[in-house]
Amino acid sequence: MQTVKNKIVFISGASSGIGKACAESFAQAGAKIILCARNTKKIQEIANALTAQYQTEVLAIPLDVQEKHAVTNAIDSLPAEWQAIDILVNNAGLSLGLEKLQQGDIADWDAMIDTNIKGLLYLTRKIVPQMIENKLNGHVINIGSIAGIHAYPGGAVYCATKSAVKVLSDGLRMDVVDTPIRVTNIQPGMVETNFSVIRFHGDQQKAAAVYDGIQPLTAEDIADIVLYAASAPAHVQICEVTVTPVHQA
Ligand code: NDP
Repeated sequence: MQTVKNKIVFISGASSGIGKACAESFAQAGAKIILCARNTKKIQEIANALTAQYQTEVLAIPLDVQEKHAVTNAIDSLPAEWQAIDILVNNAGLSLGLEKLQQGDIADWDAMIDTNIKGLLYLTRKIVPQMIENKLNGHVINIGSIAGIHAYPGGAVYCATKSAVKVLSDGLRMDVVDTPIRVTNIQPGMVETNFSVIRFHGDQQKAAAVYDGIQPLTAEDIADIVLYAASAPAHVQICEVTVTPVHQA
């Protein structure tokens, strides 16, 4: 295994859930971390807490990954010592609604497509060329979903976005094959985070019912896998990991 100590890790969607847990794992391992999300207060609090606990450098940048110019500006405006990003964790994402496709809310579709697909693309398009230019052993770790493999009723658009994450991961892996850059797609099943609450537009009861009879994964379970993939020796590429709770069908 290799160490991620002093590597620069960019994590999108780091204000809660899996992104926040990844930030903690990388901080504990001594990496330097850039956290982004829309909730400025939360990421700044997380950055302060991680810096205090692990004495590592953490930078919080407010960013909506749906905004392509904001993504470009955010990366261009990083202080010089933060520019050479070694590891990009494309984690920002959401699911909204569980309506049948023919009854779906188009605004919900736009948010999912713009965040889960376009946001990932904007960050990747901006950061991967810099990894190549800086001759880094770069690593792009995408948080896909088991939803990208198996569609479920009412989830067509979300599932399609995560299917896109799988295909984009496979495509990027081919496109960087002549570089040391590795590409990993992690496909979790149910993870207990704010994800379900957001899906049901804040309805806590509906959100909790999703886990009836199942012990869901924790955000930390996923962060462990992300750190493992990043820590594999440089010649080892973990292409895809699918991980589910034991009782999830
Ligand atoms: P959370 O809702 O806890 O976290 C989502 C994160 O994404 C938040 O930090 C949120 O921050 C950020 N985010 C959302 N939209 C944007 C945006 N436009 N720009 C920047 N950041 C954004 O859910 P999870 O941790 O569960 O989700 C993380 C990833 O895991 C997602 O891609 C999700 O699809 C995937 N996943 C989750 C599963 C689950 O069961 N929980 C299962 C499989 C995959 P903010 O609101 O501050 O911007």
